[in-house]
Amino acid sequence: MSNKKQQNVQEFEYKAEMKQLLNLIVHSLYTHPEIFLRELISNASDALSKVRFSQLTENSTEGEGEELKITITLDEKARSFVIEDNGTGMSEEELINNLGTVAKSGTLGFLQALKEQQSEKAGIDGNLIGQFGVGFYSVFMVTDEVTVETKAEGVPGCRWCSSGEGTYTIEKIEREKRGTRVAFTLKEDAGEFAEEYRVESVIRKYSNFVDFPIYLDNKRVNSITALWQQQKSDLKEEEVNEFYKFISVDYQEPLDYLHLSLEGVVNFKALLFLPKEAPMDMLYQQGALENHGPQLYVRKVMIQHECKDLLPEYLRFVKGVVETEDLPLNVSREVVQNSPVMAKIRQILTTKIIAWFESLAQDHTEKFRQFYKAFGPVVKIGLNTDFTNREKLIELLRFESTKTGDGEYVTLREYVDRMDEGQKEIYYLSGDNRQQMLSSPNLEYFRKKGIEVLLLVDPVDVFVIPSINKYDEKPLKSIEKADIDFSAGEEEKDALKENMIEPVLRIFKEALGDRVEDVVESHRLVNSPVTLVGGKDAVDPQIEKMLRMMKQSEGPGKKILEVNPSHPVIKNLAGLCLLNENDALIRTTMSQLYEGALLLEGSLEGTADFISRMNEIIEAATRKAKA
Ligand code: ADP
Repeated sequence: MSNKKQQNVQEFEYKAEMKQLLNLIVHSLYTHPEIFLRELISNASDALSKVRFSQLTENSTEGEGEELKITITLDEKARSFVIEDNGTGMSEEELINNLGTVAKSGTLGFLQALKEQQSEKAGIDGNLIGQFGVGFYSVFMVTDEVTVETKAEGVPGCRWCSSGEGTYTIEKIEREKRGTRVAFTLKEDAGEFAEEYRVESVIRKYSNFVDFPIYLDNKRVNSITALWQQQKSDLKEEEVNEFYKFISVDYQEPLDYLHLSLEGVVNFKALLFLPKEAPMDMLYQQGALENHGPQLYVRKVMIQHECKDLLPEYLRFVKGVVETEDLPLNVSREVVQNSPVMAKIRQILTTKIIAWFESLAQDHTEKFRQFYKAFGPVVKIGLNTDFTNREKLIELLRFESTKTGDGEYVTLREYVDRMDEGQKEIYYLSGDNRQQMLSSPNLEYFRKKGIEVLLLVDPVDVFVIPSINKYDEKPLKSIEKADIDFSAGEEEKDALKENMIEPVLRIFKEALGDRVEDVVESHRLVNSPVTLVGGKDAVDPQIEKMLRMMKQSEGPGKKILEVNPSHPVIKNLAGLCLLNENDALIRTTMSQLYEGALLLEGSLEGTADFISRMNEIIEAATRKAKA
């Protein structure tokens, strides 16, 4: 793969995937080219953190006494840009591994996102580059050729050069100092990044909280403050917001933040944030939060970027920093995981965060709504995993209902408080969207009686809500099941008498055969002739639909057909049965009613029979006109 170009200089070819990626980066237009600066500074800062860490843990004398820092040197006339750090540096092998290949699994996702953005509009948002961890290559937004000189402890220095066009070269060089120097000439249209004031403002915007001093043309530009170390009263909102954007790489301000300073069994300080929005992949990808968590600092040194052990999975969308004095500096991941200190911190953090949500719900309803919309589906998972806090989490639940407006919420507490005295159960209906649910015939009885029904629109609900079982002694019941209590003030209806409905039910059963589990008289219908409900032990229809999509289940399970004895169509059918039970129109109509109910539910597969049967019935209805 490598061939000798000239003495000492070796040429390497990028892998295919990498070429594709570079090609896109080099030949695209960007809306935020300044991101390259954040990426280079962040790499330098990581390399410096590693040195600081080994100095503290391994009693290493490596670079002792020198200031760990980042230096940027600009030349406006020559449009040259140089960034240097005295961090770990890289050996030749590390150079090849780190800058020659893309090891990140995020690369393909990044390529995809790039292509999508590119076709959408003229320019690509430079922010994408940071999000997918292909940071270093963002320099190709602003330059045609990059030179990296680097040296790690105990090995010779190397120079790496590339124009991002398929190959790169590496050669050994004389370099005394440990660290890395990245140098390039800016493209003509990126000349602004050789201007001091411009670079300074970018650093303040994106990198103000980098933990090492940044010198720009020998002038110190960033302020290093561990905000979480400050008194709560000294925190300035603006600074806190900027800090959030820095650590979470979010362009938006946080929805809210929480500052904690705990002394007692364990000691720690924390500055935690709720983002305004959930990243797309968080909600719909299982395990998306598994490896996330706040940053963990021990005595001012960052130990872990994403410390998942600090929070239970269902809270890992909370961003921020936690710092403690109670752990040793040289803790390994395993030690962190199993440490009783960690368990205690996690327990306290969980309690405090839930109390934070409660206080938002109490005093900042609009913020809470926004939070719930974004992260409600994630928090709900806690109901089935965190039994210590289950009761509190249940109180945080919010639902749309037949008595709330679109997008408005009711709590279980409120639901129960406004229930009529006669009502013994809490009712819910699940579905894809509010509109479809509101047209369900199964709601008719409840609507007529003015009984509130919760509308479960979040797909997670059907996994979580049935497990609540009872709230305030009242059982939670799906109105799509057969075992509902309809005793609440049953009225005299203009319904068919027993002997008239009996043949209708019998012929229905005959006509539908094993397509249904049973056919029974309905007490819940008002305006519809029939409806389908599940047996007492049936799986929720939403779950069933999901299982079918995942091919875990065959067709829909058998349902019970309920027939409305007061409906004109059913009454007409009873009349036809009396005249001639073998009239073909009876069975055709019954099949049609059944499939119509399936259609309403969204589970009718194939409409050809449905339409041809409908035409048959229309023909019968219009036959009189022929005469
Ligand atoms: P990321 O920083 O997300 O890992 P990059 O493409 O920016 O991705 O960098 C790739 C790798 O190159 C880094 O993980 C690091 O190991 C190495 N690297 C980049 N810049 C430096 C630097 N200034 N000093 C030491 N190593 C570096």
